[in-house]
Amino acid sequence: MIRVGPATGEVAAARKLIADAHWIGLISHERPDGDAVGSLLALSLSLARAGKQVAPVLGDGLPGRYRFLPGSAEVLRQFPRGVDLLISVDCSDLDRLGVAPDRMPRSPDINIDHHPTNTGFAKVNLVDEQASATAGLLVTLLPELGLEIDSPVACNLLAGIVTDTIGFRVPGVSSTLLRQSAELMDLGAPLAEIYEQTLNRHSLAAARFWGLGLARLEREDRLLYSTLTQEDRARAGYAGNDDADLINLLMTIDGADITLVFVEQPEGKVKVSWRARAGLDVSRVAASLGGGGHELAAGAMLTGPTPEVIERVLAATRPALGRSDRGKG
Ligand code: 5GP
Ligand code: MN
Repeated sequence: MIRVGPATGEVAAARKLIADAHWIGLISHERPDGDAVGSLLALSLSLARAGKQVAPVLGDGLPGRYRFLPGSAEVLRQFPRGVDLLISVDCSDLDRLGVAPDRMPRSPDINIDHHPTNTGFAKVNLVDEQASATAGLLVTLLPELGLEIDSPVACNLLAGIVTDTIGFRVPGVSSTLLRQSAELMDLGAPLAEIYEQTLNRHSLAAARFWGLGLARLEREDRLLYSTLTQEDRARAGYAGNDDADLINLLMTIDGADITLVFVEQPEGKVKVSWRARAGLDVSRVAASLGGGGHELAAGAMLTGPTPEVIERVLAATRPALGRSDRGKG
């Protein structure tokens, strides 16, 4: 994978593309999370501040919990005409952009991401898989691109970092990231409010949805998994197509080295989420099933009756548990 760094010339190339552009479209991945939204808004605001016309687009719309973020009201669901540069953030491949190919204004020119499974789909690829969050990568990248980090930009960057690291709790969090986050706070980013809005608070519908999922919790060896059906969603009154973060709750349960959540989607699809303890790797399992992600957090969209999807996924995931024994031995 092409790594970010002056030696690659990629940063200079991106800087030139941005300097020459007038109307810049920005996009992130489908079912956007905090890093997708925070990175999108941070880049969008910093480009606007540099005098560029911007069009930040999320095909699935902005999830309500991110409405407190500066610039969120500007998010569009489709691209206007006239975009002459397209930048993708926090998205590993073209299939996950969340906007149908025929609705894209052009193919992505710049790809800014931290997923190890990134396919390098743009003209210029700024991908650092060591970064804990795309927003963390942007902390160093924005100044290198000649863009300013002011208070609203800092708020969005810290929101991306806090959500992707689940509040600085994942193994990849470095002292450098903590120092960068402290700098973002100095610039005005409200850490406590970000925690409160993104991690601490859940809707009543989400809690009811969890309850239905928890009632269906299964354990096999050090694998813990649960399913959320379309009927659960209706019963709980939960609006999203996601797992309402049930997977993160499962990861707090003792004795589970890998957790899985299967979320039924419309049209017979099943969204699978994997989480793993440090030392394991679920990204390869996800990739082998057509998905992707990171060693400790990955996902895929599969098709089929849910019980069959569960069997396929369990069979593919079991070998990944074995690696922990070798790691410990
Ligand atoms: P989540 O389980 O929260 O949806 O996703 C966990 C990680 O896996 C995230 O980094 C996300 O970008 C990635 N991921 C989730 N679903 C997919 C998918 O369908 N395809 C790919 N390539 N990555 C995915
Ligand atoms: Mn991310």
